[in-house]
Amino acid sequence: MKNWQQGYRGIGIALLHALVLVALWRGTDTADWLAFAVVYPLAAIGVGVAMHRYFAHRAFRTSRVFQFALALMAALSFGNAVHFAGKHRLHHRHSDAEGDVHAPHQGWWQCWFGSLIDCGYSEPKIRREAAHWFDFPELSFLYRHGSLPALTVCVVLFLIGGFNMMVIGGCLPGVLLLHQSSAVNYFCHCRGQRAFATRDQSTNNLLVALLTYGEGWHNNHHRFPRSARAGLYWWQPDLFYGVICLFETLGLVWEVQRIDDQRLRRADLALHS
Ligand SMILES: [Zn+2]
Ligand SMILES: [Zn+2]
Repeated sequence: MKNWQQGYRGIGIALLHALVLVALWRGTDTADWLAFAVVYPLAAIGVGVAMHRYFAHRAFRTSRVFQFALALMAALSFGNAVHFAGKHRLHHRHSDAEGDVHAPHQGWWQCWFGSLIDCGYSEPKIRREAAHWFDFPELSFLYRHGSLPALTVCVVLFLIGGFNMMVIGGCLPGVLLLHQSSAVNYFCHCRGQRAFATRDQSTNNLLVALLTYGEGWHNNHHRFPRSARAGLYWWQPDLFYGVICLFETLGLVWEVQRIDDQRLRRADLALHS
């Protein structure tokens, strides 16, 4: 069963890349990129705000309806919010040590692709880590049928605009977000600056932060994992935090977890004393 699932994931990742290359080679038009402009921002928010900051770290609270909307946004990139939450909590617990499946010391390939194909944790272990999310039948359904929303979008885009629109609007966001996430997993555990003395090798990396809308402030994140804000200072751009603030202003989310200045100063002092 496990081998079959790994094969399915590996073929899926390879197929998405191949489809994107074919579509680019065939030539794209404005309508294809309009589809991309609609799907990609939602899928990106689905990865950074929904899967990471909400489902894995519960950095804010929200209604059941918006929670489901966030899970659907995560699924637009072929992501699985509850599965990611379980897997990612294990990453934080074992960062850069035995039991971390995407530590750079295991090699670039394993960190970038291998851990996506075989995350190294058993299904029961992942489910245990994210057990509370299974109280929601709609999330359990998405856990079991994680690819369904993205495949539905692909079918709809195919019917509207044909093969190229399906690929540029439906597949390219997932491909780009895969590489953006893997860039954090790899570079932000081996290249960059360390602001806080965490027990892992996590780093802050400006370039990755710019390419991932704030996720690259990864050493900050490992120091304060529940914080909705990864870029803790004004000079650390964090677009995803801006999105969370916008959701908060609109009344869609509340109890946003923030690190107050005093706590930040104490953490700073602990490092520099
Ligand atoms: Zn990490
Ligand atoms: Zn995290």
